[in-house]
Amino acid sequence: MRRVGSIAIVGGGSSGWMAAAHFGRLFPDLKVSVIESDTIPVIGVGEATVPLLTLFMDRLGFPDPQAWMKLCDATYKTGILFEDWRAQGEAYWHPFEYLDYVDVGIHAGHCWLNWHRAGDPAFRTRQSFAEAFFPSFRLNALGNRAPAFREVAYHIDAGLLGEFLRKAAPGVERVIGTVQAVERDAEGDLEAVVLDGGRRVAADLFLDCTGFRRVLMRAAAPENRFDSYARSLFCDRAVVIRMKHPEGAAKEAALHPYVRAAARSAGWIWSIPLYGRMSSGYVYSSAFLSEEEAERELRAYWRLGDRDVGPVHKVRFETGKLDRSWAGNCIAIGLAGGFIEPLESTGLAITQTGIELAGSMLDARVYDARTVARYNAHMTKFYEDILHFIIVHYCLTRRRDSAFWRAVAESTHVPEALAARLEVFRRLLPTGATRGTNEVFMFRDISWFAVLLGMGFNFEAAPVPDKLQTAARMIRARKAEQLAEQERRLPNHYRYLRENVFGRP
Ligand SMILES: Cc1cc2nc3c(=O)[nH]c(=O)nc-3n(C[C@H](O)[C@H](O)[C@H](O)COP(=O)(O)OP(=O)(O)OC[C@H]3O[C@@H](n4cnc5c(N)ncnc54)[C@H](O)[C@@H]3O)c2cc1C
Repeated sequence: MRRVGSIAIVGGGSSGWMAAAHFGRLFPDLKVSVIESDTIPVIGVGEATVPLLTLFMDRLGFPDPQAWMKLCDATYKTGILFEDWRAQGEAYWHPFEYLDYVDVGIHAGHCWLNWHRAGDPAFRTRQSFAEAFFPSFRLNALGNRAPAFREVAYHIDAGLLGEFLRKAAPGVERVIGTVQAVERDAEGDLEAVVLDGGRRVAADLFLDCTGFRRVLMRAAAPENRFDSYARSLFCDRAVVIRMKHPEGAAKEAALHPYVRAAARSAGWIWSIPLYGRMSSGYVYSSAFLSEEEAERELRAYWRLGDRDVGPVHKVRFETGKLDRSWAGNCIAIGLAGGFIEPLESTGLAITQTGIELAGSMLDARVYDARTVARYNAHMTKFYEDILHFIIVHYCLTRRRDSAFWRAVAESTHVPEALAARLEVFRRLLPTGATRGTNEVFMFRDISWFAVLLGMGFNFEAAPVPDKLQTAARMIRARKAEQLAEQERRLPNHYRYLRENVFGRP
């Protein structure tokens, strides 16, 4: 058993400050220090999140999102619009709302499939599923309205979130310095870090929040393997720009309350509207596209010509995770622990899970080898669930129009565990029970169903009894009424934010 009376967090990006706020506010008896370098920059591209973030902020004592949205340049995110993934010219909607069940294990998706197969003209297109059962599709994806549902996430400036949380963690000691050396005890545990000015910071537990550098973990457990996802996910670079929004009415169109993820020749482009600027990045594979070509394609996407849009950030990354997120007395949080491409906005959610899980396991301020093993098993499953979900956005594509998409279609590695899940989903569909083919999961039934449907997955669910179809039609009618009422009532997303959150254009 090891006791924890002090925690040193190295890294002042959003991971470092999320961890500091969590431990500083919820574990006031612990001595918590954050060491941040004033020479090594943070990664902050303009991030999209998942609804889980609301819970994180709530637990810290910020139940009203509008209070912190203003300080983080945040806007609402109600889902993701995927364009050109299965085939060019096609789009699908991944909402955050809940699926309606008509019986145990049977939901609106089963009924939709039934009608679609029977040739019902109202359900001819795959998009008709979102149109019928997810008002957020018409309201938000097509209409740019303020969110009408509780299940929302945010587009956020992760750097500003870090600053907000820094101010929200008053008991936490902030040390400016760059770690130059790491001291280990006779058993190999970390004892202290030594900073560039010579200062030494000792602690019982260390959180490595140093991003892709993994400064502490490399020293604490050099044998800790990095499990690469490169066989399944081919993208390894991003070019990122941030642009001013257009003025006037065009701004209402620009501030869409959802992420746009548009597949391109060797990857995909995100559009994430923050309140002050549009963040956009091209996530691509360096095996198929050079940095210059990627920047050119990104500029062409936005019809920028030679317009100056400020600095263009170039990011190299390797998708994968450390075999052990927790080794000895060091836990790697955020980018230090691993990275999956941001297609489903999971970066901050992985960070949050890593922090909250560590927090719950340190409730008694002690841990042992079993705690560490449990933590690592949980994080591995969590990453695996996200990895599986991201792979299905690629491996089902029908695109063959570029070398990248041909390679994706022909040689994406589908792990056995994912293939087994897909077999279950094929027969039973993703439901509250079958998503649990992974006992630790990030994505719910609706997420899996929406993406698999959008990608044209071949579901083979059994026919649905008539009385359940009747129930689904009633749900659909209720949603249509709800939609009509909300279309009358809900303002434009940008105008709503201007009037209720920011108080300025
Ligand atoms: C292209 C891209 C797109 C992304 N999109 C999304 C998204 O849409 N949604 C999402 O949730 N996440 C996204 N992410 C992830 C998200 O940006 C990160 O999870 C988030 O910024 C947290 O990063 P971090 O704090 O772990 O690392 P960083 O921001 O890299 O911070 C590392 C910190 O460690 C410090 N440091 C490094 N070395 C030392 C040293 N020797 N001594 C002291 N300090 C040191 C640095 O100064 C810095 O403060 C994306 C990431 C990338 C690369």
